[in-house]
Amino acid sequence: MRRSYVVGNWKMNGDGSSLSEARSIAEAASRHPEVDVAICPPFTLIERMARALPTLAVGGQDCHPAPSGAHTGSVAAAMLAEAGAKLVILGHSERREGFGESDELVRRKVEAALAANLGVILCVGEPLSVREEGRAEAYVLAQLAGSLPYALLAEPSRVAIAYEPIWAIGTGLTPSLEDIAAMHAAVRGALGDAGEEMAILYGGSVNAENAAQILSLDDVDGALVGGASLKAASFAAIIAAAN
Ligand code: PEP
Repeated sequence: MRRSYVVGNWKMNGDGSSLSEARSIAEAASRHPEVDVAICPPFTLIERMARALPTLAVGGQDCHPAPSGAHTGSVAAAMLAEAGAKLVILGHSERREGFGESDELVRRKVEAALAANLGVILCVGEPLSVREEGRAEAYVLAQLAGSLPYALLAEPSRVAIAYEPIWAIGTGLTPSLEDIAAMHAAVRGALGDAGEEMAILYGGSVNAENAAQILSLDDVDGALVGGASLKAASFAAIIAAAN
């Protein structure tokens, strides 16, 4: 039986004053012990948040594939773990598109994260033009095959896949429930036996109003939430809907 999983991606938002919001989120999470809840704040908040809120899983939003070295501005997976992170988001479309991250690079990051004992949220998702051309499923399954280390299929509980159509992120647009269900079923099928255990999250404009419907779909095990995770009120409603 897969547990529900709700993850907040704070992106480049938040400072010390946001810890009170995170505290309210941790309190909301404690009222729903059947839902796993995580917050991925900017690097600068990971250690403070993990210390202040030991019941909340705190994660990073990226890591470098190498364990150390001359990589100015980057952070290694083991550094995240040392700061108190339990997981890391990898392959987010804002990294794939904005920083030119290839499937192969994302796969090496996943391997590095797993070697550092971090859980992974691996993001995949198609641009609008690909959906309009009817190629969304093939595109997403190719991304998945390219970014998921093969060996991981033997340890499915350490990774969750987040299906995030790029055109739905931060836009207020979402695919139809039928399209979300079809993509999640396709991803589940592509994972083979590992798909029984691996959580598949939906991400892209999830909010307090649409969460219940999206999260009620069979193959949707949870949500990766951007904007609506910044405020405890909206994020708590999404956690409650994941019940
Ligand atoms: C995201 O960036 O992962 C995301 C899902 O953002 P939003 O919820 O704001 O669309």
